[in-house]
Amino acid sequence: MAPLVVLVGAPGCGKTTVGRALADALGVEFRDTDTDIEQMAGKPIPEIFIDEGEAHFRTLERAAVAAALAAGTGVLALGGGAVLAEETRAALVGHRVVHLSVELPDAVKRVGLGTGRPLLALNPRATLKHLMDQRRPLYAEVATATVATDGRTPAAIVDEITALLPR
Ligand code: ADP
Ligand code: MG
Repeated sequence: MAPLVVLVGAPGCGKTTVGRALADALGVEFRDTDTDIEQMAGKPIPEIFIDEGEAHFRTLERAAVAAALAAGTGVLALGGGAVLAEETRAALVGHRVVHLSVELPDAVKRVGLGTGRPLLALNPRATLKHLMDQRRPLYAEVATATVATDGRTPAAIVDEITALLPR
């Protein structure tokens, strides 16, 4: 079994929010690899970054993505940086992968000054721009469809994704 849909995209594109709403609409389970990693590590992601560093987090993330793809939960959201791993991009081949695209202004508004995003702790706007420029080609590479989220409600985005699914 494969997930019905795998969601990828930049921080703040709405993977968690839209993923939950999409799973509800479809009546299937939702899984988020960021949550899986926190459970595996027994601590929040910012603490993993502080205690063990980003490289260790990425190792946990590769394992979490592989496990979640194999489990085949209905809607699966990947962490924003998961596609940085070549192994993960290869593992996504053959899956239905929707890239939730977002441009910088909406992404900045959405991530705000919230906690839980260790890579954005310092200078969020510039860091987000850099991350998005670096990752955009990788999201495009793994995606089988792209859905724009700028200025749109999660409900409208859910409807567009639902229309992409086989019935
Ligand atoms: P991700 O999991 O991709 O990092 P989240 O789902 O956590 O993104 O969303 C980040 C923030 O943006 C949350 O506060 C969420 O409520 C808000 N958000 C997500 N999608 C939208 C949208 N389409 N329009 C407005 N706000 C949104
Ligand atoms: Mg999320």
